[in-house]
Amino acid sequence: MASDLRVSLTDRCNLRCSYCMPAEGLAWLPTEETLTDDEVVRLVTIGVEHLGIREVRFTGGEPLLRRGLADIVARTKALRPSPEVSLTTNALGLSRTAHALAAAGLDRVNVSLDTIRRDVFEQITRRDRLDDVLAGLAAAQREGIVPVKVNAVLLRGINDQYAAELLGFCLEHDYQLRIIEQMPLDAQHGWTREAMVTADEVFTSLEKEFVLTPDPEHRGSAPAETFLVDGGPAKVGVIASITRPFCGSCDRVRLTADGQVRNCLFAREESDLRTALRGTATDEEIAAQWRLAMLTKRPGHGIDDKSFLQPARSMSAIGG
Ligand code: SAM
Ligand code: SF4
Repeated sequence: MASDLRVSLTDRCNLRCSYCMPAEGLAWLPTEETLTDDEVVRLVTIGVEHLGIREVRFTGGEPLLRRGLADIVARTKALRPSPEVSLTTNALGLSRTAHALAAAGLDRVNVSLDTIRRDVFEQITRRDRLDDVLAGLAAAQREGIVPVKVNAVLLRGINDQYAAELLGFCLEHDYQLRIIEQMPLDAQHGWTREAMVTADEVFTSLEKEFVLTPDPEHRGSAPAETFLVDGGPAKVGVIASITRPFCGSCDRVRLTADGQVRNCLFAREESDLRTALRGTATDEEIAAQWRLAMLTKRPGHGIDDKSFLQPARSMSAIGG
């Protein structure tokens, strides 16, 4: 059974990263279909108390857009056993909310930042908001939500040539950089394997400026393969979902903002817990439905199979 739960709190976002969303945005979920704060907490509680969930990551869309976020974090931390609670965010507004999130017990934060060049940032995200992200990163650090991790997706000819510069920035500020291979989860279905920057290409470009050696620490079920930079202790991670898939050790399960359980990012089926939740189902009955949904988890994402079909929902609607 999975022990790591990713909860999407909204499918909405204030950026438009080209590898995730189209410029005009997407048709957002109607409010009545989105789980309320109480419904989110009830499902997370069932996960922790009945299904062995030990880590909860809130994501989206942009989770900082959710007004009740700090309260949801605090109520999740108060569960027993208390799960590790983290956030994946674009950090817009984090400089204002980091204090409340730290007070609520947030353990860790992953901030998505693909470049530190203002023009390139705007080209990728279609918004001129680099300064807000940098302020958000600094606030998380100041509030002790550490280690602050930075997630980056590299796009050929757009920011891949600046990977070493981004690593240098992260080393300077004591943020841990993790570079993620681009996955076929964009709403526009524009992904191609040829255009994707591979983990091998990432190493080649980083090794022009840094010495990378395998991290002696055990990787476990972590998706990032980590390396010591210039002998350590600083590290850099590469999440090579496409060229070095780690499906065999995956311990994740996902809950969408409208209450559907997905047993894989690439799953084509979902299990509707919201209907059960809004009906008369007991926690035990919801847990049983959730368990059943996990039984159909496939052994791999199958991106290399001829029959691979991109899931109907894109990354921002699933919860990355
Ligand atoms: N808005 C928040 C953020 O950007 O951190 C949380 C949601 S976002 C969908 C979560 C992560 O998914 C981000 O780190 C983003 O870079 C990554 N992501 C989005 N689309 C992707 C894609 N097609 N391939 C790989 N990673 C992607
Ligand atoms: Fe928004 Fe995150 Fe998708 Fe960028 S990656 S558009 S910040 S949901």
